[in-house]
Amino acid sequence: MSELETLAVEIARCTQCLLHRGRTKAVPGEGPADAEIMFIGEAPGFHEDQQGRPFVGAAGRFLEELLASIGLTREEVYITNVIKCRPPSNREPLPDEIEACKSFLNQQIELIQPKLVVTLGRFSMARAFPKARISRIHGRPRKVGGVLYYPMYHPAAALHQPSLRRTVEEDMRRIPELLQQAAQIAESPLLPEAEQLRLF
Ligand code: URA
Repeated sequence: MSELETLAVEIARCTQCLLHRGRTKAVPGEGPADAEIMFIGEAPGFHEDQQGRPFVGAAGRFLEELLASIGLTREEVYITNVIKCRPPSNREPLPDEIEACKSFLNQQIELIQPKLVVTLGRFSMARAFPKARISRIHGRPRKVGGVLYYPMYHPAAALHQPSLRRTVEEDMRRIPELLQQAAQIAESPLLPEAEQLRLF
């Protein structure tokens, strides 16, 4: 078994937060172990919980369309979430749930070593850009701790708010160019929080 598969088994058995009690299936994530791009969403919804696979509902269909716009299929990228079990009634993840799942996501990034980590929505953005506002930093890559992050709006946000659709499509279209430049992008200096807020 590969290390990613072993991790998926660990995730499926995890009882570190209360979400395990309500899950049908945990949703570790899927994609090639050597994927160049990793997408991180928020949390599994109804369909994901039923199938144990990420982004298989309406937001997933839109994500697949976005990938197709840059000549990719979902099989070519790694797709996961900040938390691996569905919150009741699809409520937002709680801080202790994110914390309990954090080491799984850290290990996934460590094992896959993607060239680019695309964060989808506020919760995955907050990993690399705590306190930033997505309306200000979406579409702006930044290297933190050797990982190149690229924050985007969540595809579901664009489905609910049609005015965001074009923004999401445009941010997606920059990905091929970013991949080309990934190795040359310098690490962002670690700034004090106040400075970060001023910049964002
Ligand atoms: N939304 C997410 O953030 N993740 C999924 O897996 C599905 C919908």
